[in-house]
Amino acid sequence: MPGPVDGTTGVCELICPACDHRVSFAQSFGILNPFNFPCPDCKSRLTVGTRGRIVLVAAVIFGLSLCAIAIFMEEAGRWETRESLQFTALALIVGGLPAQYFGISFADAQIKRISGSA
Ligand SMILES: [Zn+2]
Repeated sequence: MPGPVDGTTGVCELICPACDHRVSFAQSFGILNPFNFPCPDCKSRLTVGTRGRIVLVAAVIFGLSLCAIAIFMEEAGRWETRESLQFTALALIVGGLPAQYFGISFADAQIKRISGSA
């Protein structure tokens, strides 16, 4: 479980490149826009790096897969709308929370460059 770390874990984590702050699992839920979010510690404007984009693409595919399963089961007449909503909610909790945990462990962050000032 995430806890106080002293920089010797060897695990990839979402780390602020400006102040080396490690974004915790709980803090990751505060990231509403992965392409423009403030560091929880130093408030630097950050954006996801290459690995972060891979995580986001995987998350989108995961979400679309859930919707596809629910739609398929409804179309097949096996589920009512209520059942597919329950399935989607359950799958997001069972699959989404571990995915978020490993996602932020794998993702990286970069300082967001403010363009257009020149
Ligand atoms: Zn920071």
